[in-house]
Amino acid sequence: MQQPLTITIAGAGIFGLWQAIMLARQGHKVRVLERVAVPFSEAASQYAGAMIAPYCEAESAEPIVRELGLEAAKLWKEFYPGLIRNGSLVVAGARDQGELRRFARLTVGHSTANAGDIAELEPDLEGRFASGLFFADEAHMPTPDALRDLLEMARSAGAQFEFGTEWNGVADEASDYVIDCRGIAARDDLKTLRGVRGERLVIETQEIAFSRPIRLLHPRYASYIVPWGDGRFLVGATVIESEDDREMTVRSALELLGLAYALHPAFGEAQIVEMTAGVRPSFADNIPRVLAGQGDDNKIIRVNGAFRHGFLLAPVMADIVTKHLGSDNFSHALLIRTDA
Ligand SMILES: Cc1cc2nc3c(=O)[nH]c(=O)nc-3n(C[C@H](O)[C@H](O)[C@H](O)COP(=O)(O)OP(=O)(O)OC[C@H]3O[C@@H](n4cnc5c(N)ncnc54)[C@H](O)[C@@H]3O)c2cc1C
Repeated sequence: MQQPLTITIAGAGIFGLWQAIMLARQGHKVRVLERVAVPFSEAASQYAGAMIAPYCEAESAEPIVRELGLEAAKLWKEFYPGLIRNGSLVVAGARDQGELRRFARLTVGHSTANAGDIAELEPDLEGRFASGLFFADEAHMPTPDALRDLLEMARSAGAQFEFGTEWNGVADEASDYVIDCRGIAARDDLKTLRGVRGERLVIETQEIAFSRPIRLLHPRYASYIVPWGDGRFLVGATVIESEDDREMTVRSALELLGLAYALHPAFGEAQIVEMTAGVRPSFADNIPRVLAGQGDDNKIIRVNGAFRHGFLLAPVMADIVTKHLGSDNFSHALLIRTDA
């Protein structure tokens, strides 16, 4: 067993929570500083669709996201009992069958679903779509439940949380390491970090029930609906090159709600519960990194750049940090040595 370390984690978003769980379970003494008093109230993580969808994401992400996403999916299954493992379904309207063929070409891990399969998977979509793709090995979780559960898991593992306490950005004398998980707030220390705006809605209706996330393909927009249970659905998400985190625009609301309505007209009667916008911390290639050195001058390890894959990749990022702290020689494609 490795000598226990004293570790401070700055930021209690999805990256900070997974770091806390894994490091505390390794026997390290973990303290998490979060600058806001109300958990998750300023975290990008609160807006996420929280889909563990390594296959579907391969449509637009680099191959490494799928490779590591598959590894991360195993860790989610192992660690988080709240994961809903019903797969995901991708459909397109009659005029957009070319989009479906394109999506099928760019991804693996799916089977073709005809109208009967779609009706069997999602009875409320019966008769609405002639064909689709079913990704049986994907999963999802209701975001607020997952964040609350992970916080509880980290606490149960022994991590101490100090909400309403801002990390001052310097190496902490009392800690062997500080793990900087501040998301977009770390921009001053990570010059290549940028924000990518994402908007999403939460709607509520008892008229429809889905068992899994459904992506509706369209030539201009990409949208998905994630069922949260109790008649709640997350409808997301825009991807806009902007750091503007003000309220959702009318254009985005029209696009997202239009796609929900196209998926099923009963969404027309749903109540809008939330309309929100967040900023995804992202590096130029949209791939996250662990930036770490060793020795007294390298006490700060930065874990950032989650882009659209914070939930998907958080377990792998925590695994990289845990292994790096356990061995001088550990190497990984996402581990950048700052002392090299
Ligand atoms: C609309 C939308 C949909 C998305 N959908 C998905 C999805 O389906 N799947 C997926 O994997 N990802 C998704 N994402 C992306 C995901 O939400 C982000 O990549 C992820 O949340 C970033 O997590 P983080 O922990 O790095 O940052 P954050 O969640 O922003 O957490 C950083 C925390 O650090 C705190 N902090 C800042 N400064 C300090 C300081 N000085 N001291 C202490 N604490 C500090 C902040 O208050 C915050 O709580 C989506 C994002 C958006 C906006």
